[in-house]
This record gives sequence, structure tokens and C-alpha cells, in this order.
Amino acid sequence: MMNDLFNSFMTGPDDKGRFGQFGGRFVSETLMPLILELEEQYERAKTDQDFWDEMQDLWTHYVGRPSPLYFAEGLTAHLGGAKVYMKRDELNHTGAHKINNVLGQILLARRMGKTRIIAETGAGQHGVATATVCAKFGLKCVVYMGAHDVERQKPNVFRMRLLGAEVVPVTSGRGTLKDAMNDALRDWVTNVRDTFYCIGTVAGPHPYPAMVRDFQSIIGKEVREQMQAAEGRLPDTLIAAIGGGSNAMGLFHPFLDDKDVRIIGVEAGGKGVNAKMEHCASLTGGRPGVLHGNRTYLLQDDDGQILEGYSISAGLDYPGIGPEHSWLHDTGRAEYVAITDVEALEAFQLCCQTEGIIPALEPCHALAHVTKIAPELPGDHIICMNMCGRGDKDIFAVARHLGFEMSEGG
Ligand SMILES: *Cc1c(COP(=O)(O)O)cnc(C)c1O
Repeated sequence: MMNDLFNSFMTGPDDKGRFGQFGGRFVSETLMPLILELEEQYERAKTDQDFWDEMQDLWTHYVGRPSPLYFAEGLTAHLGGAKVYMKRDELNHTGAHKINNVLGQILLARRMGKTRIIAETGAGQHGVATATVCAKFGLKCVVYMGAHDVERQKPNVFRMRLLGAEVVPVTSGRGTLKDAMNDALRDWVTNVRDTFYCIGTVAGPHPYPAMVRDFQSIIGKEVREQMQAAEGRLPDTLIAAIGGGSNAMGLFHPFLDDKDVRIIGVEAGGKGVNAKMEHCASLTGGRPGVLHGNRTYLLQDDDGQILEGYSISAGLDYPGIGPEHSWLHDTGRAEYVAITDVEALEAFQLCCQTEGIIPALEPCHALAHVTKIAPELPGDHIICMNMCGRGDKDIFAVARHLGFEMSEGG
């Protein structure tokens, strides 16, 4: 029999939350008891059928899962090579994959008797998903958001407020996502008794990276079944866009031990992976350090200062990447590439025209890589990309970049 510990990519992290040299929990003494309680409660919920039954019921009736696996016939014909499938997670309630994870964490919070949920958000997508599920369950919701992002992301700030959340603009540091994460951690320590910290990607101290991955793995589990039904076999290549890495980890994880399945993560290359760091490609252009309670690849300057990064897609500008991706990168199990703003914009338009699907700018990075490799591959090669978000939120940014004059509501 195979020894799971040594021959599987799926058993990690170890009991200290480490994926090789990455992950772990770099937190203050005061935070440690909270993290340990969360870990214990999650371990218990994970093997409790009632927990997963409740989750499945909400996934079916509230989120709209399973999301379809769609053969992109027009795009495939246009590219003239591999067969391209899209996992349609943009059809979920709230328009992206984030709600898969938020539901899991909030069901856990309810089991733990917590009544107040806090979250950090950059572009606002995770804040909106959290505010949504809090409204459904009548929980108090406080979202920390960099003051700069509050200004840039007004529609999402308004959505969160409509849903009853309190949005706290963070002015400490440089007023960005990193500072919002620090303030959320501080809030958690101060309000231990009633508060649950809901993290939006596969980052943070252990057990968050593993827990968020487990909740998002519904994506890959569905793809396995749906691809069997459609093609009678597994896909040859999986491709997903990476901000912190949660939608990608969710697609990849159930396939990690299928050695013939090629796995590619796509980072935001912004204006190019250059020395000026006008990109968000933590693996392609960063180096290991500690952020948000875990060790992973980060965008940093020569003095170890965390840099903000840049991308056309606000949802991809997280300065780090989940520690499991860092490990998959260093072990060589997955490949990581970067796609520029310009390439993502081209993929955006191609998807609209060939498929009648207006995609979010984040998955356009994955799609742009599909357009690069598909033409060189044979017609029986199957690619599955994760269409992790819809593009309604991005049409103003795209119009601006294409030089199309448009005023909001006009
Ligand atoms: C937030 C977001 C991302 C980036 O987050 P991951 O954790 O890397 O998945 C990507 N796509 C969409 C649509 C998002 O909303």
C-alpha cells in the first residue's frame, strides 16, 4: 500500500500547519489560544456528517451548486487546438467562488456560538460575500478595508452597507489590504469571546490555508465527476488565476495525486514582471518571507518591506500567495506563470465574442494562458479552466482601458 505521508501531495499540512518550509503560524502569544480553538473546532466539524449535510444543502439551494462544467465550443474552434472546458463558478450567488468558503466558515462560527463576524477585504469581493452570508444568518458583520480601497471600490462598499455590514476604513500604515488584515487580527484579539475572523483566501495562520482549501475543493471535486460524465476521463490540464490562491487551490487539490494532470496557476503580471514591481506575481517575482501569520512567497523590496503590487484586476492584488502554492511551486508539482494586463484584456474580449460570457478580469488571466497553449496542443487534449467570477463589476475598468467613454449609470 502507498504510504500517504510520503507519496501524496494531498495530506498536508503537517500538524504545525507547514507545507514543507511554508505556512505555519507566526502569530502573537495572545492570538495563539484563538487559533488553537479554531483548529480544534474545525477538526471536529470536518469529520461531522451533519456539518457537511448543512453545507451541501446551502450550496445547492443558496449558492446554486453544482456549477456547470461547460465545453467552450466557440473558443475551442477559434483557438484550433485543445478542447477547452470552463468550470462556471461565476454563476454562483454573488458572482464568484468566494461564497463557497464564506459559507463554510460561517457555519463553523455558528457551531462555535460566535455572533460577530469580522473580515478583511481588498477589492471588496470577500467583504460582499461575508456580508451576504451574515445577513442570511442575522450575524453582526464588520469588514476592515484600506481607506484607499474604500475610495476605489465604492459600489462594493455600498453593497456591504446594503447588506447590513459595518465597513471600517483602515488608515493605519498605507491604508491597503495588508493594513486591513492587521487591523482585523487586532480586533479578533480584543473581542475573543463573540468574534470569528473569516479570511477570504488560502492565507493566514494555520488552520486557515487548509480550511479555506477544503471548502473551495468542492470546485475540483465537481470537475472530477463532471469530466467523467462528459469525457469519460480526467482533464489533461487545469488552469486557474491566483490572487491569494483559493479558487486555484480548490480546483487543483482533488487532482494533486493524479500525476498525469498538468496543473498551472496564473499570477497577475500587471505591466510586466519587472524590477519596479508593477505586478502581483508573488511566485514569479517575489521571495519567501512572513505575512499574515504564515511563511510564503511575497512581493518585497530589498529591505523586506512588503510591496503593494499592481494589477488591472483589483481581486488579484494580494501581496502574497497561499503557502500551499509556494510548496507546490518548489516541489514542482504545479507550474506558475504570469499574464499581463494587456493579455488579460484581450482574453476578456475574446471570451465575450466567442462564448457570450462576460468574465471577471481575474479569470481572464487564466483564459489568456489558455489562449497561449491551446493552439499548440492536439485536439484530444482537454483543458479545464476555472471561470471563477463574472465581469459585471469590471465593465467600467475595461471601458476605461479600451478608451470607451462611459459614465456610471449613463
Ligand atoms: C477574490 C477573487 C480572486 C482572487 O482570490 P483567490 O483566493 O486567488 O481565488 C479571483 N477571482 C475572483 C473572481 C475573485 O473575486
